[in-house]
Amino acid sequence: MTVTTRFAPSPTGTLHVGNVRTALHNWLLAKQAGGRFLLRIDDTDKERSREEYVEAIRADLAWLGLVPDGEERQSARFELYEREFARLVAAGRVYRCYETAQELELKRKVLLGRGLPPIYDRAALQLSEADHAAKAAAGERPHWRFLLDHDQPIEWTDGIRGPQHFDPRQMSDPVVRRADGSWLYMLPSVIDDVAMGISHVLRGEDHVSNTATQVQMFTALGAEPPKFAHEALLVGSEGKLSKRLGSLGMAELREAGIEPQAVIALLARLGTSDPVDPALDAEALAASFNLAHFGRAPARFDETELARVNAAIIHRLPFSAVADCLPAGMDEAAWATIRPNLSRLSEAADWWQVVTGPIAAPPQADEDRVYLAAAAGVLEQVGADWAALTAALKEQTGRKGKPLFLPLRQALTGQDHGPEMAALLPLIGQAAALERLRAAA
Ligand code: GLU
Repeated sequence: MTVTTRFAPSPTGTLHVGNVRTALHNWLLAKQAGGRFLLRIDDTDKERSREEYVEAIRADLAWLGLVPDGEERQSARFELYEREFARLVAAGRVYRCYETAQELELKRKVLLGRGLPPIYDRAALQLSEADHAAKAAAGERPHWRFLLDHDQPIEWTDGIRGPQHFDPRQMSDPVVRRADGSWLYMLPSVIDDVAMGISHVLRGEDHVSNTATQVQMFTALGAEPPKFAHEALLVGSEGKLSKRLGSLGMAELREAGIEPQAVIALLARLGTSDPVDPALDAEALAASFNLAHFGRAPARFDETELARVNAAIIHRLPFSAVADCLPAGMDEAAWATIRPNLSRLSEAADWWQVVTGPIAAPPQADEDRVYLAAAAGVLEQVGADWAALTAALKEQTGRKGKPLFLPLRQALTGQDHGPEMAALLPLIGQAAALERLRAAA
């Protein structure tokens, strides 16, 4: 069996971290098995779908490196839905209903008032062909429900949640098509999953009850249901489904200096028992991706953790990967020197400014100014060699530790902390270093 997964966003907004996590997990599942990952644009809702969101979804996936092996759009597949629907009509697995929203609401209230579950009573199944003809003559158009098979228990082994069991008698026949002919999500999704040979449907646990009805739709269409897995939802670090999380998009993360590899590394493991692996290559994460390691508890997304993973990623990025984003003149040696001090790539420019100058060094106490004057003398002799410089100064002044190093670092960089001086000093160069030491003295 070829593993084929799909990510099926509705283009009614941009992707947020929760959707991206679902997309990523489907990508990982497919890549791990050498299978295919498809992007399905669920744009049956003409009113709410927007082309700009389709483009934004593609762009975000591209930024993340989650390139689909194929793309389909539901709006281009209405003929197929029509054909499959006709089969279900012929088989008596969909039926015409006319209840208005108010009538349905009233039925619900009555049932709830009697302490009964608000399940649709299938009253429309009692209508005769003459009744339907009369409705049609009166200009009433039906909406359609899928007829659940009450004698077929609904069961599947969920890749994350384990054995699942639903009693179709406790469920309402779902509406699959509106009176104006438009489609609800349920049926086209199943038709597509069959047509596209989807082997694994991995999505959020908010879809579990949809899966229960969809399992019977697969069977009604004569297809074997795919394997299902439903992951626990993503919550904010405070443990709630936060508004912020629901709107936190890739553009915002990008602007905050988060690298795509950091998003991938964190989201790949979020909700699993596996530690975050700051891998530069998402394929490496695919090898160890395991649905069995997912827990049932909500997965916590923590922006502080993302920032930490981001730093770990940056500390591993090779020069070739970042060359285009670095300030002009910053070469491989400079990148290697500065990289361990970055939590965002944009900070490279700040450190490059320290290298190229001018810098603003803090004023020094009198005795340190004498010390820095001596340092200038030594540097003139030994060149931009940190080990030689500090060894000679230690010898000459008897200083060690902080009094030996800190005034030098401050005079040479204007900072108390930063990249290794041994690597930084040659980048600054002897002439500029000499100037800085003399200025501070
Ligand atoms: N368009 C649906 C959604 O975004 C797809 C759900 C599914 O994966 O089947 O919720």
